[in-house]
Amino acid sequence: MIDAPKNLTRNILLGMLVGFVLGAILYYSNFLPLRLKEFIEIYVFNLGSSIFVNLLKLLIVPLVFFSLVSGISSLTNMTSLGNITLKTVSLYLSTTAIAVTLSLIIGSIFKPGSGYSSNISPPDKLPQGQGIYETILDIFPSNIIEAMANNQMLAVVFFSILFGLALNKTNHLTNNFSESFEKLNTVFMQLVIMIISFAPIGVFCLIGKFVIADGLDIFQEAFKYVTLLILVLFIHAFVTYSLILKMFTNLSLFTFFKKMREVAIFAFSTSSSAATIPVTLKTVQDNLGVNKNVASFVIPVGATINMDGTAIMQGMATIFIAQMSGIDLSLIQYVQVVILAVVTSIGTAAVPSAGTITLVIILQQFGLPLEAIGIILAVDRILDMLRTSVNVTGDAAVACIVANSEGLLDKNIYNK
Ligand code: ASP
Repeated sequence: MIDAPKNLTRNILLGMLVGFVLGAILYYSNFLPLRLKEFIEIYVFNLGSSIFVNLLKLLIVPLVFFSLVSGISSLTNMTSLGNITLKTVSLYLSTTAIAVTLSLIIGSIFKPGSGYSSNISPPDKLPQGQGIYETILDIFPSNIIEAMANNQMLAVVFFSILFGLALNKTNHLTNNFSESFEKLNTVFMQLVIMIISFAPIGVFCLIGKFVIADGLDIFQEAFKYVTLLILVLFIHAFVTYSLILKMFTNLSLFTFFKKMREVAIFAFSTSSSAATIPVTLKTVQDNLGVNKNVASFVIPVGATINMDGTAIMQGMATIFIAQMSGIDLSLIQYVQVVILAVVTSIGTAAVPSAGTITLVIILQQFGLPLEAIGIILAVDRILDMLRTSVNVTGDAAVACIVANSEGLLDKNIYNK
């Protein structure tokens, strides 16, 4: 196994703290020259965080491609691929359905939008979401280079599986060409480690950028909405995932959450499940003991289609806006929200704020005022960070469950 840098989690937390404090000092102080503030904001925080996120993104496509190809090409038992796919997709869809339902239940009990009056100002430009038709079609690329260039993960996963299968079937003719992919995969894992060792600086810049731009007022006007949403995100992360992990495995929950800390911090600071893929993959393989073949399929697919945190936000936002506009949703409509949130979370890109774009599809469906999205967007930055952490935690939980059920989870590594 490739060695990870020492004290990484501690240093990342430190980077986060320093970025937070420095960002806050710069945001709230008025004794510093404006030019200095601008300089730090642009050339330290913005530039530093963009470089770091670019480096993470740089790895995604080749990492997923090589790990999936090397995994599939070494499979001897093809039915297990079918089983893994079936289990993965059904767990992803059902955890997302649980997530929205939870959000809708808590939203209808505590009513975030009642008594809320705001002169809603419409956003400049309404974001456009992607429909189900395009989402399905996106799995089947007509040009793999284009799909890779656009980071279309489902297309990349689909092509990698096909390629891995073909490699598997031709190994006897190609002098075991698949071994080269194994080697390339190892090289890319090493690259991940090299880039992750800069994480403390990267996270410092990302958090600093966030605080210096908006300050610490995360609530703005929508206090109840923000509080309830954070509450549901925590319940889902710690209660729902604990329950399903306990239901399907006998793994230690403490170990799971402890080992997931780093991934959650990455997701929190980048607000992107996709940019977090390299870290999630590394953690589930090297620290949680999930077999490489399972991880390299479950994690990229999860980053793309499994967005429990996002679905929670969409459920709460729908209730919030409906209550605010005095619209009563019926039980049937609640069920429709669940279905729509599950479907749209599949089509939501794993990048910052993407969930608010697909929220438009849900609002439109129920004739809710689209202008209200302005309020949601005003408080979305921190919520996006939190829900992305939930999204990736869900991916890892499912990876552990699927691997465990196939006998492909190394408990020695998990418990180490
Ligand atoms: N930022 C989220 C993610 O990457 C998507 C969203 O909810 O906006 O998982």
